[in-house]
Amino acid sequence: MKDLIKDVLAFRDERNWKQYHDEKDLAISIVLEASELLENFQWKSSEEAKEKDMQNIKEEMADVLIYLIQLADKLGIDLKKEALAKMVKNREKYPVKSK
Ligand SMILES: [Mg+2]
Repeated sequence: MKDLIKDVLAFRDERNWKQYHDEKDLAISIVLEASELLENFQWKSSEEAKEKDMQNIKEEMADVLIYLIQLADKLGIDLKKEALAKMVKNREKYPVKSK
């Protein structure tokens, strides 16, 4: 995770793009990239999408993560720490039911 964050932020900083990365615009970009991901599944079954569009699915998932990393950086959020904390909450909210 640390290597990925470092790489994403280096790509941004080498191009001096941080100045354009307002939090609102990064949040919008996350949703737009998620929509691009969704486009791969529109009007077809999941099986068809996986068969025909797997490369694009991978790339759009990566785009979502890349923007998420940039938004986390702008907001000073440790994304891994927050995701792990949220998983703790999720486990409390949705306990495993005994069978
Ligand atoms: Mg994209």
